[in-house]
Amino acid sequence: MANRLPPTYAKSLVWFRRDLRLHDHAALAQAIAASARVYPLFIFDTDILQDLPRQDRRVEFIRESLVELDHLIQTHAQDKDAGLLVGHGPGVHTLVSAAKALGVQAVYANHDDEPQALARDQQVLGELARLGIAFHTFKDHVIFERSEVLTQSGQPFSVFTPYKNAWLKLFQPHMAQAHELPDAALPFASRPATWPKDWPQGVPPLDALGFEPTNLHELPIQAGASGARQAWEDFRLRMRHYRETRDFPGVKGPSYLSVHLRFGTVSIRSLVKEAHALHVQGDEGASTWLSELIWRDFYHQILHHHPRVVGHAFKPAYDAIEWEQGPQAKPLFERWCEGQTGYPLVDAAMRQLLQTGYMHNRLRMVAASFMVKDLGLDWRWGEQHFAVHLNDFDLAANNGGWQWASSSGCDAQPYFRIFNPISQSEKFDPDGKFIRRYVPELAQLPNAAIHAPWLAKPLDLMQAGITLGEHYPEPVVDHAQAREKTLARYAVVKSKAVGALKGE
Ligand code: FAD
Repeated sequence: MANRLPPTYAKSLVWFRRDLRLHDHAALAQAIAASARVYPLFIFDTDILQDLPRQDRRVEFIRESLVELDHLIQTHAQDKDAGLLVGHGPGVHTLVSAAKALGVQAVYANHDDEPQALARDQQVLGELARLGIAFHTFKDHVIFERSEVLTQSGQPFSVFTPYKNAWLKLFQPHMAQAHELPDAALPFASRPATWPKDWPQGVPPLDALGFEPTNLHELPIQAGASGARQAWEDFRLRMRHYRETRDFPGVKGPSYLSVHLRFGTVSIRSLVKEAHALHVQGDEGASTWLSELIWRDFYHQILHHHPRVVGHAFKPAYDAIEWEQGPQAKPLFERWCEGQTGYPLVDAAMRQLLQTGYMHNRLRMVAASFMVKDLGLDWRWGEQHFAVHLNDFDLAANNGGWQWASSSGCDAQPYFRIFNPISQSEKFDPDGKFIRRYVPELAQLPNAAIHAPWLAKPLDLMQAGITLGEHYPEPVVDHAQAREKTLARYAVVKSKAVGALKGE
């Protein structure tokens, strides 16, 4: 996959994947610079879609983003018959068939470093090469990728703070410069007469893809680059307060840009450019937010260097931990998934995920820690549940987050640090505002009782109309006992580490 500038092509194809925008798009800018005509293509890849629930907010988000992309292409094209081409089928086969049918000399795409995507792209490279078609790919999704930030001895970093320091030292504002497109109308090619008749003509409706509408339109999420712009305009006014507000789920503190970063309806360069400029001026809110964007790069390079983290602990000793497997394990997991654990903040978090596809970062940490260290369940179960439900699901960040919570990851919290779900609730949702929104059956409890209803005075419960076990569950585990069990469970990590030192 060469990155050098290719010779001029008569026709090329840009394959949109996790980069659903026209502006500041590395592959598109390169294709336009090197080609007389460019076909834009998106593929609804059935290899990916087949595993998703029939109602999936992400599929709807993608579809709506494509409608906008198609409109933008038509608006900016020289040719009035130009528009986004859409495929629907297995990724490799559909891409190669499209390239062949269109008679292009080159395909352009941006890097996707997830292991399955890399395997897919390797196959695409081979099949295109056999047809004499070039495949050019570019960095677009992160600021620094793969081995661009290494330790002084040339090794990948596995601890965040030194990585971040090296990242900041290496970063120059020009690295966040946008990939500009020409001012003139763009050379998008007309939709071809050779486009297979049984392939989508334009962006297909959801039902043609085998999906049903979700509640996306009832949520404060607007798809497409215009939605990303709106979210960004809203956040840039709040960025300076990010440091103080980001940990409180009842407050509008974070940016809510993750779904846009995931599907590339916003360019990471545009965000980093502004956050870095403010960071240099000493703006603490911007510095803290920039750190979060650097975490994103950090986890992407971890996945690149250690693809085994998919399915395995980053620290191998942690694979020896024995998670709960008895008859109670699955029912407990289901209670957690449904937000019925009896711990109000955990339940509010899990219900937010089901109802909206979003979960606040503090709550991702609390809910993940609860599943692993209070319920004693395998972190991979939770990782999978988040993967199905998060709008912003990203393999690198999700895996990193889960391994952090289970202490098995690089730079994770130590295994003996176990979040107390009650004190987390008192600290980060002191007035129970967030709990009341997602666990309305507790809404009438006074603030002092809402974090642990089983400790509430009987009169408070009665006045709030709550009978525990009937209107809201009793706690599924006792935190203090669970904590002791977890410390015992993780003892294997300690003995393994000692064993390894002794050469056992
Ligand atoms: P903001 O606070 O505004 O942060 C800005 C951006 O920085 C985010 O959009 C995201 O792209 C990035 N970011 C922030 N925190 C992290 C982090 N810890 N790791 C990597 N990138 C980060 N983030 C995902 O994008 N996808 C996931 O699948 C995901 N799963 C997670 C699972 C667990 C168990 C945990 C603890 C965290 C997970 N995160 C994930 C990280 C983080 O929770 C979300 O990025 C954040 O909550 C998204 O909301 P926001 O856009 O308002 O974030």
